[in-house]
Amino acid sequence: MLDKAVETLLRMSKDSYIIPGDVVANVSDTNNCYHALLVLTQTGYSKIPVLNNKEQFCGFVSLAMVTKQMMESDRMNPDRLMKIPVSEIMESDVAVVEDPNDLEQVLNRLINEPFLPVVNEDRIFTGIITRREILKRVNFLAHNLEDYFQVSENADK
Ligand code: AMP
Repeated sequence: MLDKAVETLLRMSKDSYIIPGDVVANVSDTNNCYHALLVLTQTGYSKIPVLNNKEQFCGFVSLAMVTKQMMESDRMNPDRLMKIPVSEIMESDVAVVEDPNDLEQVLNRLINEPFLPVVNEDRIFTGIITRREILKRVNFLAHNLEDYFQVSENADK
């Protein structure tokens, strides 16, 4: 369980820490890897969500996964990517967040992932939570805790 003071300050910003789905770059599971390479290159993100035709979250595709598919013995052949659907190479065993208000779960999962997909009860993709958004709030907490709460050292620890 999060300490009350910590949780209060993490939640203090009136801005949401969820980046809404409509501004998150993504590819479809039926797109080919060449298209994924274009989107990854144009957006500059190293990893983006993969959605199906019902807007459900299916997994992640990364630049590393795509470039690996270009390898042809000792050279790179981008033409290979045209024939490979994203669904064939994506990482689908991904933890999703269904309750973005569960900050304890969000913090725990962001230790290992740079961002987390948020889905509704039908697995429809609704957005992402990034380490950056949470770190902004941790930064606020680190600088303002004593302005809002009385903090004293526990001599037993
Ligand atoms: P950040 O914490 O802002 O650096 O974001 C961490 C990761 O989240 C990025 O490297 C991307 O993989 C992903 N990400 C952040 N914002 C977006 C976006 N608008 N569209 C797609 N992916 C994003």
